[in-house]
Amino acid sequence: MRAILVDLAPSTAVRPSLEMLPLVNVGHKSLADYATIATRGLMQEIRRLAEPLRGKRVLHISATAFGGGVAEINYTLVPLMADAGLEVEWRIIHGREEFYDVTKAIHNGLQGAPGGLDAEQRRIFREYNAMNAGELSDEPYDFIVVHDPQPAALIDHFPGSSARWIWRGHIDFSTPNREVFDFLLPSICRYDAAIFHLREYVPQADGLPECFIWPPAIDPLAPKNMALSPEDASYILDQFGIDVERPLLTQVSRFDPWKDPLGVIDAYRLVKERFPEVQLALVGSMAHDDPEGWDFYNRTVSYTAGDPDVFILSNMNNVGAVEVNAFQVHSAAVLQKSIREGFGLTVSEALWKSRPVVAGRVGGIVTQIEDGRTGWLVDSPEQAAEACKAVLDNPEEARRTALRGKEHVRRNFLTPRLLRDWLALFNRQLGNETAGVELTTAAQR
Ligand code: UDP
Repeated sequence: MRAILVDLAPSTAVRPSLEMLPLVNVGHKSLADYATIATRGLMQEIRRLAEPLRGKRVLHISATAFGGGVAEINYTLVPLMADAGLEVEWRIIHGREEFYDVTKAIHNGLQGAPGGLDAEQRRIFREYNAMNAGELSDEPYDFIVVHDPQPAALIDHFPGSSARWIWRGHIDFSTPNREVFDFLLPSICRYDAAIFHLREYVPQADGLPECFIWPPAIDPLAPKNMALSPEDASYILDQFGIDVERPLLTQVSRFDPWKDPLGVIDAYRLVKERFPEVQLALVGSMAHDDPEGWDFYNRTVSYTAGDPDVFILSNMNNVGAVEVNAFQVHSAAVLQKSIREGFGLTVSEALWKSRPVVAGRVGGIVTQIEDGRTGWLVDSPEQAAEACKAVLDNPEEARRTALRGKEHVRRNFLTPRLLRDWLALFNRQLGNETAGVELTTAAQR
């Protein structure tokens, strides 16, 4: 069935094209390569779950193929689902600045920022979703997986669809601005299932579909996370002007107030009082659906006040996956001083590299770090500074902590487990057995 466009004629700014939504080329990955990392039991579960799904058609839809966690996850999940025997596509919705301004306001509202949405913002959100729905046919698909709020209202235009629609929320919904959440709620209620990272994120609301809880995962074999020697990491960082003989603190994240890069600079300054040789790298990609990114990037640059030991780098400086890997591998400590955080893939990425991680005590970070055992959880720049000083004072102890963190990531936050959960959900949606895999639902206590 093609989308029904009823009373939502697109504005002249967003004329529908005759093209389908653009496809993302995800390349190829092979499940067999993960056999040395995942347990044999997990690999068997994946194979059993994949069997009845052979040939099923899956469409992932998201707002961007670049920058941020959703893109990071899909570049691995989509090709691995394909290797498991499903027919999988990932498509990106169209948008322009006016739409991304609204979706950023929605994102901020869902993470608790005050202020609602005015009539014009609501109109823009609906119009772009209607326009994108007009470029989509649900007919070829068995499952349509919609990521995050930006395309959440596509489903409004497919009443009676034969596809199973699943909505995946990736952000921190623990304290949503209710007005913003209530705007999205009617759309979310139309889905067949919704997935949240944490139980605390599932909103109190009537009419929600069955809600499942599972965290995302990192790909241990992707260029971002594959083994990189300390020598190679130093060689790469040297080319960015980092003094590889002196300690480095790093935060890798979008330039976004919720990631608190200014708080990271405050923490670094406090560390520098005791360790004058310390350097700081803030590595942040610019996502095309994040209009606030540039403003906040500029604010972050000014906040450094020209300190030559602070390096602000992004994809604009050719920092790609391998370079992020090198920064994480080389750092004395990795920070993720978020104020809100859906999950925080960067935490697992750093722990996987056995790096000491100092991170905000928020959202999905607390599932990755047990304070004092696998890393450091902090509530302020002062606490972040204290934790970094503890790491620099006692690197051996810090490394032991990080190794425990790595083991926690290995057991819980690597891609094969994520693939297993998706395959189990697809089977469950079709009424199939789930090979003994018990998915956690919001109803369970
Ligand atoms: N990332 C990157 N380059 C950057 C900044 C971020 O590759 O300059 C990646 C980072 O390594 C991680 C993802 O983007 O894989 C961010 O995911 P996370 O869950 O930490 O935060 P989100 O951006 O989804 O809020």
